Amino acid sequence: MSPTPLMQQYQEIKSRHQDAILFFRMGEFYEMFYGDAETASRTLGLTLTARNNGGAADVPLAGVPVKAAADYVRRLVEHGFRVAICEQMEDPKVAKGIVRREVIETVTPGAAIADDLLDGSRSNYVCALAEGGARREEGGEARIGVAAADISTGELRLAVVRTSELEPLFARLSPREIVVVANSSLLPPPSSLVTERESWEFDPQLAADDIARHFGVLTLDGLGIGTDDGPAVGAAGALLRYLKELQPGGVSLARPIVDRADGILPIDEMTRRNLELVESLRGTAGQSTAGTLIDVLDRTVTPMGCRLLRQYLLAPLATKASIDARLDAVECFTRAPMAREALRSALDGVRDLERLATKAGLGRSTPRELAALGASLTRLPAVRAALSDAAATKNGGVILQTLLSGWDDCEDIASEIRRVLVQDAPIAVGDDPTIATGVDAELDELRSLRDGGRDSIARIQADERGRTGIQSLKVGFNKVFGYYIEVTRSNLHLVPPDYQRRQTITNGERFVTPALKEYEERVLTATERIEQRERELFDSLRARVGKQVARLHAMARATAGTDVLAALAEVAMREGYTRPRMTGGFELRITAGRHPVVERMMPRDKFVPNDLRLTEDARVIVLTGPNMAGKSTILRQVGLIALMAHVGSFVPASDAEIGVMDRIFTRVGASDNLARGQSTFMVEMAETSAILHTATARSLILLDEIGRGTSTYDGVSIAWAVTEHLHDVTGCKTIFATHYHELTQLADELSAVRNFNVAVREIGDRILFVHRLEPGGADRSYGIEVGRLAGLPDAVLKRARHLLRLLESEQLARGMSEPVATDAAHQLGLFAASPDPIVEKLAGVDVNSLTPIQALALLDELARDAQARKMSS
Ligand code: ADP
Repeated sequence: MSPTPLMQQYQEIKSRHQDAILFFRMGEFYEMFYGDAETASRTLGLTLTARNNGGAADVPLAGVPVKAAADYVRRLVEHGFRVAICEQMEDPKVAKGIVRREVIETVTPGAAIADDLLDGSRSNYVCALAEGGARREEGGEARIGVAAADISTGELRLAVVRTSELEPLFARLSPREIVVVANSSLLPPPSSLVTERESWEFDPQLAADDIARHFGVLTLDGLGIGTDDGPAVGAAGALLRYLKELQPGGVSLARPIVDRADGILPIDEMTRRNLELVESLRGTAGQSTAGTLIDVLDRTVTPMGCRLLRQYLLAPLATKASIDARLDAVECFTRAPMAREALRSALDGVRDLERLATKAGLGRSTPRELAALGASLTRLPAVRAALSDAAATKNGGVILQTLLSGWDDCEDIASEIRRVLVQDAPIAVGDDPTIATGVDAELDELRSLRDGGRDSIARIQADERGRTGIQSLKVGFNKVFGYYIEVTRSNLHLVPPDYQRRQTITNGERFVTPALKEYEERVLTATERIEQRERELFDSLRARVGKQVARLHAMARATAGTDVLAALAEVAMREGYTRPRMTGGFELRITAGRHPVVERMMPRDKFVPNDLRLTEDARVIVLTGPNMAGKSTILRQVGLIALMAHVGSFVPASDAEIGVMDRIFTRVGASDNLARGQSTFMVEMAETSAILHTATARSLILLDEIGRGTSTYDGVSIAWAVTEHLHDVTGCKTIFATHYHELTQLADELSAVRNFNVAVREIGDRILFVHRLEPGGADRSYGIEVGRLAGLPDAVLKRARHLLRLLESEQLARGMSEPVATDAAHQLGLFAASPDPIVEKLAGVDVNSLTPIQALALLDELARDAQARKMSS
């Protein structure tokens, strides 16, 4: 037996959407069949039923109500599925035969527009990658064209990168979905959905034509795209084609932004995580931003400002000119507290302009969303006023001037929306009024007809009471019978003959009259026509606003930019940051630097600031000190200050001079980074090797306990060799935090290595963490004292102290190192006999600060040490 016509239609549509779960609209439900039904029931916990298919085998079926569909779509997409939404394209009441159906949209993780699929605080990218050829002048490394789009904001970015730059690009964009040619060798990030397309779709020539047509230009030059960008153009072409397939109603993208490789300081995934820029190491991925840099810096007021700040943090600038320009703009706002305040209150009423504009452009806004767009636009003049006040303090700088000169209040759009829509526009055109009075003569007439109809009903009631003498007579309305006249049982004898009985109720009867029916007709048609007319007027308003989407997007970006600059100024003033001085030189000099996140976790002024200087002659710092002293904090603080400066933010220091960098790398040794779970020594070594291959003299490298995930000698040797390489070959600024004291000997071997330690003070047998950075290596690790702080039992501590003393005595130390102390190790000076503890102790004495009693006690201690030595030798 053949399948039913409905199932034939389903099969036909499904055949074109093989890789998606098809939501097949049937009345008030979206139905899924076959494998889709099984997948959905498994993923969403829906009941699986069966549908008869014209005598053929029953078809597995699962359905979700249309009203609740958004949530099911969201859950499927979060699980990495694509969902094709197939609608009924005609009214089933009037359709002849099977209702015509079409897929109006395919939702994927990377192509989402609905609010509940998106996070307001971050962009949602789908990226396409196209492989270009390798170039000799770039070391023969393949070039990859990248196009990234966020269809919810209309953003489109193009870039051409080398293979090694792909990873930091992914770290920056976090694409939800990657479009590649089938069987591509490119490795997408594990968290993104991979979509494969045919290779001809990535053809740059074909793509160039498509893109030019899409943006209505003759050649791509006009979009700032050059001949060198071929691979990116190919990627953009494939992406555009794919997005148009997903959104047959059209995609709304602003003109592409071309990211030039030399304009951005790439931040790889590990550095982003280790510096805790937008997610914390401990927190669940992407969940909370507590304890992150963005959490401290984010004083933005609008959602698009928040997204832009995130983009800024993940793509710091890499040229002195661009950084200075942004710093100038931020400085203007720091100098204009009133303007900043005015700006914040103006921005307060601005909603997500960027996404609201996109929805209008796609003809998808609800009345409420269009009203929100209008209300947001009415704030623009106040935003501009505040911006121009800020710009007036210190000549504005080029960024503020550019923002101002391109400013567009969008007054026409705002006032049109305000004129057409009612004050509190509803979610949907329907029960409540959408279009204001006075907008459309026809609508007003229909309304007065309907309302006049209502008046007439009241009049009829009065008339009928008069005519029949039944004072309790009532005119009412219900959905089944429409308008009726209700007469109680005791008055039924007074009912005139022209009353037609419709319904008997407990204590009376309901009637209609020809006059009543006529009014009813008029009221009901009017109501129906009002809704229809409102819909027409709303659609036309939305279409008119939608046509302005380019202007709206431009202003959304300008508003976001203003918001971020003012936010950076706000946080700079509140937290006491200073403007860093950017230079073209090598030196990095930070005076009284603080960790922007850690300082906020403690009472004000409790954080101990530290100075740090890296110059060409002293470019590698080996940082030692006991656990908990503050090594990691200093290391990350330097990374964060450097990064903030490149973002154009003020920095937590009293003064900072920063030579512009090309990369910032941060690596944390395996055992220090357990939070990530999968961290192994192998991963750590792979990351270290990536740094050694990529870093240049202009890079900043921060290594924390590298080489710890293996045996001590392995670890020390690797750390030693890595440091040597960075010092001799790369020549970059490096800080290496380690608890291997052996590494302090590097300073004797290598000219530009300096030892620093994070000092602790001893009080009796206790230690006090003072968190102060001092020249010189640490001599002890104070592990036992830290153990005491952590609550180790007294007996254990006592025994450990005793053992330590034994170990520190020369003989035992020599005895223990013998089996492993090879010639090579001796050459390195790694395992030379430990220094005489008595000499060490004496060298550490500050005679001026000793009281006579302390001096006597010290002498006693030294004498006893010497006696112990004599006894054991
Ligand atoms: P290490 O890496 O040496 O083991 P951390 O950098 O993790 O030590 O610092 C340990 C703790 O000490 C931090 O969590 C912080 O609370 C505190 N700390 C570190 N540096 C400072 C500082 N400069 N001022 C105040 N407290 C600090």
